[in-house]
Amino acid sequence: MADKVLVVTGGSRGIGAAVCRLGAARGYGVIVNYAGNVAAAEAVCHEIHARGGEAVAVRGDVSNADDVEHIFAAADRMGQLAALVNNAGMIAEPQRVEAMEAARINRMFAVNVTGSMLCAGAAIRRMSTRHGGKGGAIVNLTSAAAKLGGAGAYADYAASKGAIDTFTIGLATEVAGEGIRVNGVRPGIIDTEFHAMGGDPDRAAKLAPSIPMGRAGTADEVAQSVLWLCSDEAGYVTGTTISVTGGRAIMP
Ligand code: NAP
Repeated sequence: MADKVLVVTGGSRGIGAAVCRLGAARGYGVIVNYAGNVAAAEAVCHEIHARGGEAVAVRGDVSNADDVEHIFAAADRMGQLAALVNNAGMIAEPQRVEAMEAARINRMFAVNVTGSMLCAGAAIRRMSTRHGGKGGAIVNLTSAAAKLGGAGAYADYAASKGAIDTFTIGLATEVAGEGIRVNGVRPGIIDTEFHAMGGDPDRAAKLAPSIPMGRAGTADEVAQSVLWLCSDEAGYVTGTTISVTGGRAIMP
């Protein structure tokens, strides 16, 4: 049994995979959740095992309540849940709002918002002192888009991340007295496969010159902030969001 278990939704690729690898290096047993790419999830687990860590790949769509229970049941089998990283997320092809159909908007909010809230609920039932738990940490992945708005292309995605910002504040306040800290990490442009889902695979390279530091961020750089927020070093930090944007100014 692991002393402390970390559930990472969307842990198979990109930022989530980096969080899984760093979490394992910090001594967590890791639940590597994925939606469909079993090979990528197994590769992350293989890498963690090769370094002597503990990890299990668990398929599950975070927007589906039964799948979420399945993910957290796997965490229960591994040990005591200590942290949840709500990282699974989606974006869609660029569209103006008048062209967006209900199915697209509903799916965006189901994965990015409902998924994060369902997973948070499952984590709270295990970590909250109110439910006999030992406390823990939740980190929600938001986006610079939440503040910038995503006009002309990704307004649905940006709005879903705006909801996550509000959720971080509300949930942090709700469970602050129950041993659970809730914070957000706000990446700017990070070099992952996410941009291909948004119809622009080269977006990170294209936008690099517009970033004050002159480059996109890496998944590993985001993971460092996530793991710090999970750690005891952030013991008095809750209800806040760290921007990891390479100097791009984000309004608070
Ligand atoms: P990514 O490389 O595209 O990886 C997305 C991950 O989410 C994959 O592991 C994928 O699983 C999983 N996933 C997607 N839908 C899911 C669902 N319904 N249920 C469970 N897992 C699901 O993306 P990323 O760049 O690492 O992004 C991670 C998070 O950071 C997202 O929340 C994103 O909005 C946020 N973010 C990213 C950037 C950026 O520039 N990359 C900027 C700001 C915020 P499969 O492998 O099985 O498909």
